[in-house]
Amino acid sequence: MAERRIPEIVIEPPLPGRAISLYARARAEYPALVEATVQRLREAAADHPGRIAQATSLGAEDMVLTDLIARHGIAIDVAMIDTGRLHPETLALRARAEAHWGIRIAVFGPEPAKVADFERQHGPWPMYDSVALRHTCCGLRKVEPLQRLLAGRSAWVTGLRRAQSAHRADVPLRAPDEAGRVKYNPLADWQWADVWHHIATHGVPYNPLHDAFMPSIGCAPCTRPIAVGEDFRAGRWWWEDDTRRECGLHVPTANTPSRSTSLSPIQP
Ligand code: SF4
Repeated sequence: MAERRIPEIVIEPPLPGRAISLYARARAEYPALVEATVQRLREAAADHPGRIAQATSLGAEDMVLTDLIARHGIAIDVAMIDTGRLHPETLALRARAEAHWGIRIAVFGPEPAKVADFERQHGPWPMYDSVALRHTCCGLRKVEPLQRLLAGRSAWVTGLRRAQSAHRADVPLRAPDEAGRVKYNPLADWQWADVWHHIATHGVPYNPLHDAFMPSIGCAPCTRPIAVGEDFRAGRWWWEDDTRRECGLHVPTANTPSRSTSLSPIQP
């Protein structure tokens, strides 16, 4: 049997403030974007009282959303998925965020018995063996816990942006998901420069791995730093050929309209 090749992931020490100096830029559109986003969040909370949560990855966009939710006292719960494979920096950020805003971030994880069974069959690195096994891993560690995170909820909030990848170019501000909940993407029209300008302006805590050339951070075995000129999400599942690489949390459904579809007054 051919020996399995485990990619070596080299992460250079983060240089504090590097992401801010690289990416933050005060665009003229920023004040109006913030105002519109706070309004979107307020309307979402009003439409789904007690039944809406932000599913945070603790990435830069999600930290901006949590900042807006917490600073404006918007009634949206914040919750995350601990896949069991996150970087220590990501896990530490949860405690920093809770202390910074005085909020609780609920944590949902995979079912230990199912993960143990999967790893007994396929070993600790199944994601490198085939796309199918990688998807199974994402299903066990991310998608199934997300379903529990969303149980009893009628809406959720994500930090998806259209500029993150060609695959996300049509992300709407809101759309029904497969289960019929409303999925809000209130940062859909933000640029990367806006995200970092907001983080810099408001002292928002962020993952130090962003200071090590990792703009998009997922699980440790499946995230590497990117090189100059590489796509924003090039560091995620980089060994796969498919350019539409996703983890299954944000795959468009038949219900997802194009962004030009007018659903309500909150559409652009
Ligand atoms: Fe598994 Fe990687 Fe998916 Fe995390 S991102 S759930 S480690 S395949």
